[in-house]
Amino acid sequence: MRLLRHVPLVAVAICAHGNAAIAQAPDLVVTNARIYTVDANRPVVEAMAIRAGRIVATGPRTLIEPMKGPETRVLDAHGRTIIPGMVDAHAHLATLGRALRTVDLVGTTSYAQIVDRVSARAREVPAGTWIVGRGWDQNDWADTRFPTHDALSRALPGHPVVLERVDGHAILANAAAMSAAGVTAATRDPAGGRLERSADGRPTGVFVDNASVLVERVIPPPSREEVRNGILAAIKEANRWGLTGIHDAGVPRDIIDVFEELAREGKYDLRNYVMVSGDDSTISHYLQRGPQNGLYDGRLWIRSIKLSADGALGSRGAALLEPYSDDATNSGLATLPAGRVHDVAVKALGRGFQVNVHAIGDRANRTVLDEFEQALKEVPTVEHRFRIEHAQIVHPDDLPRFAELGVIPSMQASHQTSDMYWAANRIGPARLLGAYAWRTLLNTGVVIPNGSDFPVEQVNPLISFHASVSRQDARNWPTGGWYPEQRMTREEALKSMTLWAAYAAFMDKETGSLEPGKYADFVLLDRDIMQVPPELILATQVLSTYVGGRPVFQRPTTP
Ligand SMILES: [Zn+2]
Repeated sequence: MRLLRHVPLVAVAICAHGNAAIAQAPDLVVTNARIYTVDANRPVVEAMAIRAGRIVATGPRTLIEPMKGPETRVLDAHGRTIIPGMVDAHAHLATLGRALRTVDLVGTTSYAQIVDRVSARAREVPAGTWIVGRGWDQNDWADTRFPTHDALSRALPGHPVVLERVDGHAILANAAAMSAAGVTAATRDPAGGRLERSADGRPTGVFVDNASVLVERVIPPPSREEVRNGILAAIKEANRWGLTGIHDAGVPRDIIDVFEELAREGKYDLRNYVMVSGDDSTISHYLQRGPQNGLYDGRLWIRSIKLSADGALGSRGAALLEPYSDDATNSGLATLPAGRVHDVAVKALGRGFQVNVHAIGDRANRTVLDEFEQALKEVPTVEHRFRIEHAQIVHPDDLPRFAELGVIPSMQASHQTSDMYWAANRIGPARLLGAYAWRTLLNTGVVIPNGSDFPVEQVNPLISFHASVSRQDARNWPTGGWYPEQRMTREEALKSMTLWAAYAAFMDKETGSLEPGKYADFVLLDRDIMQVPPELILATQVLSTYVGGRPVFQRPTTP
């Protein structure tokens, strides 16, 4: 041991396969940890060594620690748990950025508090910038009458402000916003809407229902700078919850351009597997460019196309084979012309692209499987890894077709726990047997990449981890879980947000597990999510998040 310390550049062969030698000392040694590697060869280790952003060795600390050189940093995990960086396999980064720009007013208890929150935002953005907030509810205040704009206008004379009520049925606008919209005492109430007015007829700033449009229509679209800042804020937010990667489910070209700009500048602390969405010319543009893997030091992958074959279950837009159980005249909406999936799939296969299609209802799922099958007959391809996004309600006859065709069901466990309260009303008990059917699908031999669909759901990936293993919501309801026979094991749930997500993105050689050669993307947790009782999983805190061996989030230490 002593000798080794004096020979920092010694070659140490320690790989499980005995084929790797460490020519140079690692940049970082992580030790004294319980590392769940998701590497079948050595599932749990104490330590790992990292060099140039990648893992060079994993194993017991007695083997890893002697590799240290004089420059090697050491991360002592004090016995805590480390898992591979989590990946959200279906999310919307730029939309999260937009949501984060909205001032959150939910839970405010006075008008003064709202003015404070909006003023705090105003200090961060130049005068003239529109500020949008949402979530106020005057029923939570001491004075439950509608507010008037005066206090808001006094505090924010230079920023137009629009604050949406919690139910979305009214807004409060300040004087700058009303003047930008040309609203005066002479403005009449539109059909289906009402301006609240003072005794002398002047608008008080509250616009009810259709009247909101009078102001909202003049809010300018975000500037490129705002879009950039929104994306950076969304990346930070993702890192904070332990995400090192996402699959971005449908990104238009102008946003992809911003992604590339930020990644080129070295500001993109996330691996984003981008699904391109858009018209034929957008799709052709990216097909022409060809599959892009690991651009800008492993930040962007652009090699898949996103289509959307139906709506959602909550709004009865999911395309069903039989009518809705709670609406006998409606069987949902197919949103693509027949043959569209097939046509795009044929072109994509010819250029080495993947196709990922949103399908929620059993009719949409069947149509997509049929058209994938036809395309694969015409362009036989082994490694297509085509995906159905959501795959929420699948007819029992179609469940085995995923494995047969090699189509990946990309599912979001948090949708199950959000939908379970009313899903039975929509589709009845018989169809529920093929709904959110993780276990049935896994038993056919497929893998299931997991996700959240943020900002539709919350960013925290452990919500889906918890739902996957418990089929329960955050309050651990219902007891025993909803259709608990469809649960995943913890090992499967961990894979669904690491290695299986990587596979679904052609990234499984680079990420998804902590093993030599792969990116050093990992998360330090304050507890062992593989061991704690299920009801304690959601109390887990992410202590730090590493992308390529570099910390991108560190929880401030509490005294
Ligand atoms: Zn989505």
